[in-house]
Amino acid sequence: MRLYFTVLIIAFVLLPVTNIAQADTRIADGHIHYNWDHAEIISPEEVVIKLKKAGVGLAIVSSTPSHLALELKKHAGDWLVPFFSPYIHELGKKDWYLDDGVISLAEAGLRKDLYAGIGEIHFFAGLPPNPDNKIFQQLMALAKQYNVPTLIHVDAGSEKFFVEICQQHSAINIQLAHAGGNLSASHINTILETCPRVWVDLSARDPWRYDGLTGENGHLEKSWRDLILRYPDRFIIGTDPVWRVTRTQSWDLPDDGWDHFEQLLQYHLHWISDLPDEVQSKIRWQNMATMLKKSLNN
Ligand SMILES: [Zn+2]
Ligand SMILES: [Zn+2]
Repeated sequence: MRLYFTVLIIAFVLLPVTNIAQADTRIADGHIHYNWDHAEIISPEEVVIKLKKAGVGLAIVSSTPSHLALELKKHAGDWLVPFFSPYIHELGKKDWYLDDGVISLAEAGLRKDLYAGIGEIHFFAGLPPNPDNKIFQQLMALAKQYNVPTLIHVDAGSEKFFVEICQQHSAINIQLAHAGGNLSASHINTILETCPRVWVDLSARDPWRYDGLTGENGHLEKSWRDLILRYPDRFIIGTDPVWRVTRTQSWDLPDDGWDHFEQLLQYHLHWISDLPDEVQSKIRWQNMATMLKKSLNN
């Protein structure tokens, strides 16, 4: 009997500790791609093994062409969340905004519940398309109708370009890719203040690409640390294992970005480990889960 109670007490003591430990170590990767030029050198099975081995339990994937995201989900499960990419063929990034076929595919994919979001959609200030483009406006209307989030990438000199988008589409959850690329913490502060349904993803803000987030020791720069602590519910991490756009490869080679996946994830986990525990688990997991759930349930 005494042994029974001892076991019981040990079980009660250990149980909450185990639960807390699990909650703290879960990882949500808010920004991965599995594109045709990845698929040339890595299979969906291999990508799923990498994600699982790294401890990723939730991931948003966007593919060019779009259907490759579904292929990846087939080998993973419901923890892999495919977004509809308007890049419906290999070079779709160049002409999606002129192609009505994008809308019919998006509508069908959302209606059948194949996709849980829309994106990644890229804008480069000063180059076509503009956010008033008809196809983009129709995609945002679908996001609203199906109550799904969108993933938007903006390269611009200030936050103004993106603020116009998030103000115009204030009923939609929007994930801002790469914290706006080159934008500063004060630009992002304005975005978070102005648009309550924006989540900021910090993918590609690593020293090998946009950079600017951390100093030499791998810890957050003060301006970013202050901002993240001011808005602990609004940031998510991502690896964005796309390498071809960087200096290491030329355009005619396959993208070996998945070879760098572990390194990219470790970079983010390192600066996160310096934050208060509660903020850590929000950024590692909870914020992305909330962004997806809110969109699906509200
Ligand atoms: Zn991007
Ligand atoms: Zn991306």
